[in-house]
Amino acid sequence: MKQLFTYKHSLQQRFTVTAVMMLVPLVILVVIQYLVFNNTIAHLNNVIEHGSSELTGIKQLQHKMHLAIMAPNDYLIHGKKTERENYAALSSKVSMTINNMIKLMARHQNERDLIIKVDQLWRQIDQKAYKVLASTNPIGDMAIAEEMELLDAVAEQAISVLEQVFKIATLEMAEEVEEAEYLRTIMIALIIGGASITALMILWLNTRLANAIVRPICCLKSAANRVSDGDYNTRLSWQRQDEIGELSQSFDAMTEHLEQTHTKLELLSRHDGLTGILNRREFDRLFPIEFSRAVRYKKNLSLVMIDLDHFKEINDKHGHLTGDSVLQIFAKLVKETIRDIDQFARYGGEEFVLILPEANREGACILAERIRALVEDINFGDTNGEPVHITISAGIANYPEHGTSEKEIIDTADKALYLAKHGGRNRVDCANSII
Ligand code: GH3
Ligand code: MG
Ligand code: MG
Repeated sequence: MKQLFTYKHSLQQRFTVTAVMMLVPLVILVVIQYLVFNNTIAHLNNVIEHGSSELTGIKQLQHKMHLAIMAPNDYLIHGKKTERENYAALSSKVSMTINNMIKLMARHQNERDLIIKVDQLWRQIDQKAYKVLASTNPIGDMAIAEEMELLDAVAEQAISVLEQVFKIATLEMAEEVEEAEYLRTIMIALIIGGASITALMILWLNTRLANAIVRPICCLKSAANRVSDGDYNTRLSWQRQDEIGELSQSFDAMTEHLEQTHTKLELLSRHDGLTGILNRREFDRLFPIEFSRAVRYKKNLSLVMIDLDHFKEINDKHGHLTGDSVLQIFAKLVKETIRDIDQFARYGGEEFVLILPEANREGACILAERIRALVEDINFGDTNGEPVHITISAGIANYPEHGTSEKEIIDTADKALYLAKHGGRNRVDCANSII
């Protein structure tokens, strides 16, 4: 089966499509409901139509009865024999209508009983009418006139029973119309209300679900971007118990680990592994910064290059491990002697460099001389307890005294160191003045 979504679609798009797909059956349901509703209305209309045909039937019956009764009445006055056929035709119409009405009233017992009563009365009327019409000389016949009076009385009774049926049918019809209208209102309210509530619930649930998933993913994405930009301090710290919460906890654990590793790596990349002081790369990074700061604020900056004298011999005589230990002790000694703002780095091998911000030539020379004297006095000791003594040579350069560029300062310090070496070692060359 072809997949509905591919990973090209965003979650937001997927949720929107899902919501639309949930709404489609709802719309179909509403249409079906509407069709059923229309059918019901048609049925109700039928009921109303049936009711109104009942009403017109009653009125017609009344009218036909009037017409039929007029035939014996006219016969009594004019004595026309044609009234006999006239009545027979009208009477059979009345009987037929009564029978139809009985069938029509099948569902309404009350009305049906009353029509049956009308039928019985009509039989009496019929009997009397035929009696009147059977008279050969009706004009002035008192007995026939009396019979006619009785007929009229029964007819009046039948008409009043029909009036009663009419009233009942009218009331019933009004009730049916009212009920139909009530039903129609309820059904419309159910269809529109039900559909709206369901649609709103679908949209609300979908939006909530989308927010609960899409929003944290967006936050996670921007947090991951911050980490990739080097902000290893980024943490989500979400207090959620669900899968997203677990994901955020894993993310936080990952960034924590990343931060620790990064700190370690940074420390390693900036420091020398043997002595723990700054390495050459860090010196190359720091010196231009310190130099431009000195230039910008018009401050002094001194550079001291230090080289251990005849260090090769130490290695040769006492071994490499002792050589390493000497380098470590020397680095520690210098670190303890300099100020906090000074930077001390291993320049390479047994060569070191000191950056002294805001220090003039004299100050730098005094510090270098102090270090030289300290080193001269210390017994570095080898692994066998044998005494190990070393000396150092140092070259100094000062900004702005010896140059206006970083290169000039480094070259000058280098030359001064060279001079100190060639001047006999164990000395400090302060570029132009040797102590
Ligand atoms: P100079 O007074 O002219 O500087 O003589 P030197 O012997 O100190 O200079 P050279 O450049 O001839 O020798 C430097 C020696 O320093 C050689 C090298 O083995 C040693 N060295 C450099 N780095 C280390 C290190 O990390 N540990 C040890 N043990 N020795 C090192
Ligand atoms: Mg050396
Ligand atoms: Mg050297």
